Amino acid sequence: PRPGVARKVVVLGSTGSIGVSTLDLFEQADVGVEILALTAGRNVEKLAQQALRWKPQVAVIDDETCLPELRERLAGSGVRAAAGAAAVSEAAAMGADWVMSAIVGAAGLAPTLAAARTGAVIALANKESLVCAGPALLAIAREAGGSVIPVDSEHSAIFQVLQRDCIDQVSRLILTASGGPFRTWDKAAMAKATPEEAVAHPNWSMGAKISVDSATMMNKGLEMIEASYLFDTPQERIDVVIHPQSVIHSLVEYADGSTLAQLGPPDMRSPISCAFSWPQRLSWPAKPLDLAAYGQLTFEAPDLDRFPSIAIAREALRLGGGAPAAMNAANEVAVAAFLDRQIGFLDIARAVAGTLERMNGLGELADSVGDALDSAMMTDASARRIAAEVVGQNRI
Ligand code: NAD
Ligand code: MG
Repeated sequence: PRPGVARKVVVLGSTGSIGVSTLDLFEQADVGVEILALTAGRNVEKLAQQALRWKPQVAVIDDETCLPELRERLAGSGVRAAAGAAAVSEAAAMGADWVMSAIVGAAGLAPTLAAARTGAVIALANKESLVCAGPALLAIAREAGGSVIPVDSEHSAIFQVLQRDCIDQVSRLILTASGGPFRTWDKAAMAKATPEEAVAHPNWSMGAKISVDSATMMNKGLEMIEASYLFDTPQERIDVVIHPQSVIHSLVEYADGSTLAQLGPPDMRSPISCAFSWPQRLSWPAKPLDLAAYGQLTFEAPDLDRFPSIAIAREALRLGGGAPAAMNAANEVAVAAFLDRQIGFLDIARAVAGTLERMNGLGELADSVGDALDSAMMTDASARRIAAEVVGQNRI
């Protein structure tokens, strides 16, 4: 867009942690944006409140039973109300310059793809859509003349320090991980961990699903797959290091012995800002990094015995084909069952591993033939069915 002209934007998942941070950044940075659409899952009250403040053309709620209430709250405002999954994808494809993809889970795949087909710049927080169908999503965006800019803080860090001219000299991508709330817990305590304990993240305030993923460290597993697709790097060259302060957001190691890192206080508005203005930078009252106040930054190797999800994800990435999509779907089912108190904390990784084993045995993870997208969706559905059975057998 020309300078001085408001950018047309769509925020998918506007009522969530990333969605709220995105709207807050627009306010803080005082950028000219014209919001075409805001979308949410079922939080009508917050969606209506945001719509009255930002006056998008349309506010979309995924859950159709919420439509009458949304209509009522928006009556007379000039903002159209819509509902249903198809309406969310239509909103994604309204022709925005920039689309924030911040729906949680594989539910974000269809709308993100719809946005990618329009050639928009996609600010991608919804890592599950990449894990599910990364190569297809990236190819579709590229063909449409758009781009995908990562919002996940680790990938934003790598995106920022990756020297495109030296891509062949990158020896390793190093993802940092906070270690989550159970970093120092023993296995016996972890077995009894409650949903409340699992969602209490030490450094970041996030949605429930990603908070549980951080506690199991499946979040880092998903992020390894995300990094592999985004930066075209095989799993052998992606490492994970625990860094409890979450100040170094990730690193790129080059073959000449030099390693570049990106740092900042843990605040998702910073990677969102980067994805909004890249290759330029926005200025807004971001909190400066006070290294002396931190005193020290520490690092440790991840414990794969207590956090097997990292190894499970590495194996899924190595297997390729439908394995990452199946792993993601099984994880969504298992995390929901844990949050619903049907299974214990350590059963989450067991259920994911069990689902992958069963599907591999059935030959359902083989490399996709035909439309990669269709096969990703089929693998997702079949993994959800099998994971529900596996979860049922582990029910407490
Ligand atoms: P959240 O649960 O706070 O918000 C999710 C949003 O998606 C909400 O607006 C919700 O209404 C909407 N939604 C949920 N189910 C939906 C459905 N079926 N259809 C349409 N909309 C639906 O989650 P979050 O923490 O904001 O995370 C969003 C995404 O960003 C996730 O993929 C997460 O992994 C990723 N991410 C989040 C953070 C963070 O700091 N929160 C950091 C990195 C990556
Ligand atoms: Mg992250």
